[in-house]
Amino acid sequence: MQTNNVINFESFGNKVGRFSLKERTCLIPEMNRQGSHLLAANFRSFGIRAMVLETFEGMDLGMAHTSGKECFPCQITMGDILHFLQQESARLGPEFDADAYVYFLPEADGPCRFGMYNKYQRIVLDSFPGFSGLRIGALTTADGYSLEGIIEKTRVRDLRKSSYVALVVGDILDRLLWRVRPYERETGLTDLVMEKCLTFMMDAFERFGQHLKFDQIFARLEAVIEEVKAVMDPKIPPKPLIGMVGEIYLRTHVKANQDVICMLEKYGAEVVNASVSEWVNFTSYDQFRSARTALRFSLKQLRFDLLKDQLKALFTYGGDLFYQEHRQRQIYKRVTRLIDLAKDHKVSHLEDVLKEQDLYSFDLGTEACLSIAGMMDYVREGYNGLVNVYPFTCMPSITTSSIVRPLMNRLRVPYLDTPYDASTQPGRESAIRTFMYQADQHCKRYGRHGS
Ligand code: SF4
Repeated sequence: MQTNNVINFESFGNKVGRFSLKERTCLIPEMNRQGSHLLAANFRSFGIRAMVLETFEGMDLGMAHTSGKECFPCQITMGDILHFLQQESARLGPEFDADAYVYFLPEADGPCRFGMYNKYQRIVLDSFPGFSGLRIGALTTADGYSLEGIIEKTRVRDLRKSSYVALVVGDILDRLLWRVRPYERETGLTDLVMEKCLTFMMDAFERFGQHLKFDQIFARLEAVIEEVKAVMDPKIPPKPLIGMVGEIYLRTHVKANQDVICMLEKYGAEVVNASVSEWVNFTSYDQFRSARTALRFSLKQLRFDLLKDQLKALFTYGGDLFYQEHRQRQIYKRVTRLIDLAKDHKVSHLEDVLKEQDLYSFDLGTEACLSIAGMMDYVREGYNGLVNVYPFTCMPSITTSSIVRPLMNRLRVPYLDTPYDASTQPGRESAIRTFMYQADQHCKRYGRHGS
């Protein structure tokens, strides 16, 4: 297909932002499989035509339309959307209308490049005749991923609440998979059962999401846990416990990280990865924290004219955070009665961990806040090794590595950095094997704990 190279700056303003999903199909990129599909199912329950994009099939397109300097997730998502649009225009022929879709690509406010993916992808999409009508639904951390404007005002809060629950349930399904698979009776059985359970849970969100009937959803989740738990062979002894952190897209996108969890399991690990809802809680916490700082500053300066808006922001973000943490606790409480899954960290606790040891500051922002503190917490809980998964050249993850690596050397906890791009590193498997040997020694010497 021929492309044109003229940049239309206006389209940053009118085709990147929040758009009504009433008459359009919402395209959701697949990051972690479970969470993306549950989120799409929940959107469908609100009458939104939502679907998850096939992922990694358009890598050649992603590579062809990036220079190689962009972050790896930008290349993957670029390829996913171009692949979809090409397939769809071939399928529909003259009926194809790019304006009928909104491509959901959240962004992060802050010092790293995530905020620029959608601008860059806008330029590339505009260069394809026929694709410029596609809108990019750019939810942003700057307002704690508010969903205002995408559906009727009266249903926004309900959509936000049930979407958050969908993400937490997605996290729990992931944790269930990682908890059971290293102890499965038959190779491949856990993945098979989990795939069936995902369909069952998607159906639960389609039926009950809109009405916030969470009890019905949780009852199904409990049934799933019982079914998956039965796959475990109780005769297999506990394995070394590995804590994983890193850049959210890479650590949760199985194809992008060349299925690093499976590779670790191959060499004897049981893995707990940081969750997706931790990031959502972090964005609400960060907004709440900024609102609190702004309010204190205004009080000191006697700027009473600003107080009303600042108090509003404080209550809005504080309310979101309170709701999210309460829901998350409630769901984990229900499921941990059935199986000992690792619980999630509270974000304020992670900030305390950083302050106590003076390792990093939440004022600097980025995922490094979560990764550094998350690893310190894994160490305290007695994990046997730590892995940092990230895209090659990812700034917050390299910062994390530079702080945590020397610390782990001192604490004698096995630690491994695993940067990824589209190439395969020949030494990766032997690095993982060596790391797992060290983790096994750690486990023999200090035992296996973990939450
Ligand atoms: S977090 Fe890392 S991979 Fe993501 S945009 Fe920032 S630098 Fe790129």
